[in-house]
This record gives sequence, C-alpha cells and structure tokens, in this order.
Amino acid sequence: MEEMAEGPQLTGISAVDEVARLREELRAERALRRTLEASHGALQAAFSRLEGGVLLLDADRVLFANPAIAAAFDIPSERLQRMTREQFVRDLRRSSNEPPDFLDRSTKDSHAAVEEARGEFEIQFPQWRSLRWVSKPVRLPSGHGVLILFNDISADSDLASGREQRALIDELTGLENRKAGEQSALREIRDARRYGRPLAFVLFDVDHFKRVNDSHGHLAGDAVLREVSRCMSGLPRGGDTAVRWGGEEFLVILTGVGLDGARLFAERVRRAIEELRVGDLGQVTISAGVAELELGEDEPGPAIARADASLYEAKSRGRNRVI
Ligand code: GH3
Ligand code: MG
Ligand code: MG
Repeated sequence: MEEMAEGPQLTGISAVDEVARLREELRAERALRRTLEASHGALQAAFSRLEGGVLLLDADRVLFANPAIAAAFDIPSERLQRMTREQFVRDLRRSSNEPPDFLDRSTKDSHAAVEEARGEFEIQFPQWRSLRWVSKPVRLPSGHGVLILFNDISADSDLASGREQRALIDELTGLENRKAGEQSALREIRDARRYGRPLAFVLFDVDHFKRVNDSHGHLAGDAVLREVSRCMSGLPRGGDTAVRWGGEEFLVILTGVGLDGARLFAERVRRAIEELRVGDLGQVTISAGVAELELGEDEPGPAIARADASLYEAKSRGRNRVI
C-alpha cells in the first residue's frame, strides 16, 4: 500500500516539475526569439543605413539585399527580395558593360563554395557608375552561399581622373607640363621609329623675360606666358605637342617633320610673337633651337640637348632668332 501511495505522489511531483520546466523552456525560447528578432531588426536597420550594398545569395535565391543594392541596381526592394539568383544575375548582366566575375562563378556552379574575389565594373542604370565589389563565401544552413559587398566608386574615379589630368597639365598655360611632355616625347619617338618617319624638337625661350617681370610685374609676365603658349599651341598641326618645359621655356614636338620643317615652324612662331602685343607691354620676342631625332636614338634627352645648344647660340647671337 505504501508503495502504491508513493507512486502517484512521485508522478504528481514530476508532472508539476515537468510543467514548470516546460514553462521555463518556453519563457527562455520566447526571450531568445525576442532577442533574435531585436538583433535581426537591428541588423536590418544597420544594413539599411549603409552606403555600400550588402547582398547575400544562397545557391538558389537572393536571401538578403539592403536598400543600397536596390538603388545601385535600380531594382525595387520588394522584387529584389523575391528574386532567384538566376533572375538577379540576368538583370545585372543586362545593365552592366562587363559583367563582374562573381556572376560567372556563381552561374557556372552555384552549389560550390566560391573563393573570395574582388573587382570593379560599370553599370548603366539609372546612369553610368563604377562599382567595386568583393564577394566572400559564407556557410549557410541551406549550404554554400556568397556575401557580396558593393561600393559606388564613381566619385572616386572621377576625382582620380581629374587629379591625373591636373597632374599632367600646366595650370597657367593649359599646355602639357614637363612630366606629360616627357611621356609624349617617348611615345612620339616610339611611333617615329616604328613608322620610320622624322621627328623634330623645338625649344623656345622668351627673351629677357626677367625684364618683363621686373618692369611690369609678375602678373603681366604671366599674361605674356599665356599669350605665347597660345601661339605655341595654335600653330602646330594636329599630331604635334606643345609643352611648358620650364618657367618661360616651351618645347614643341613635331611629328613627320625634319630639321627644315621644324625651322619653318619655329620661324612662324617667332614672327607671331614678335607681332604680339600684351596689354601696354612693348614688343616680346622669343628665341628657338631646333633639333631632329637621329637614327638609333630611343629617348628624347640627346635631341633636346642639341635643341638647347642651338637655343643658347640663338641667344648669344642677339636673340629673337631660330637656330
Ligand atoms: P634670356 O633672354 O637670356 O632668356 O633672359 P631671361 O630674362 O628670359 O632669362 P632668365 O632665365 O634669366 O629669366 C627667366 C625668368 O622667368 C625668371 C623667372 O622669374 C621668370 N619666370 C619663370 N616662371 C615664371 C612664371 O610662371 N611667371 C612669371 N611671371 N615669370 C616666370
Ligand atoms: Mg629661360
Ligand atoms: Mg628667357
């Protein structure tokens, strides 16, 4: 009897315990879900504020895309979240000039793990922009996935090309600066040698320029340099290059022209400048030295040195002349 009485009593206790345990479990589970929902919401909020795009794909679907992705690819958010991976890839291909690498990988074998990769591409809609991306493999409950982060670098590339451009152009005259001129000279020499055509260099130097600065001020001097450079860049033909080589020194690279042609050109510039009137300044004159690329020369140094020697001679013979 005692044994019988013990049984249900024990069962009653364990049933109560069991209910309490289940309640506790349920409470813990609810708390966990609330925590998960809160952190999911926080993550969503954080990702939606990111300027960069965040895209999570598994083998078949778009699992997550933040609003920056929707904006970058001009796909409405709701549609994006329902897209299959195939559809997304197809859409992106349509608007991109060179479809990014990760698309090929992901379409070739979407079930295999991808390696981390990065690259850049341009996309057309809503307007042309450059995007930089990095894709990282992620392990998901459904198998292998890929997380792709995008950054719009259009502004950077505009800035960079602007900077590059500015680094090669002389601010005062708008001509190529010496650095750019050296690159142009090397390029022209390579072409001249390849096509077996002559190449000439003319080095100009404004006469008594120090006097212009001293008597009329630096601003007047700058105005003269701008006018001289206008003659310099206006007179050569299409393929020729005018360079501000130094303070008041200019180099013009003439393609397909030998010594005689270069002298004719230099003489035309000399005369044009002689007739130039800048503000209330008197006559400005310029001297020039001419040289031609010689057989076997593959860099501009020696020819420019010969032009410089001729220029020096022009100065010592009284200036305002071409030698
Ligand atoms: P020469 O006929 O022998 O060439 O005499 P020069 O006075 O022209 O020669 P020099 O080399 O003695 O003087 C060049 C002057 O050019 C000195 C320098 O102050 C001036 N200069 C160089 N760069 C600039 C510039 O960007 N603006 C102005 N205004 N002057 C400059
Ligand atoms: Mg000088
Ligand atoms: Mg001078």
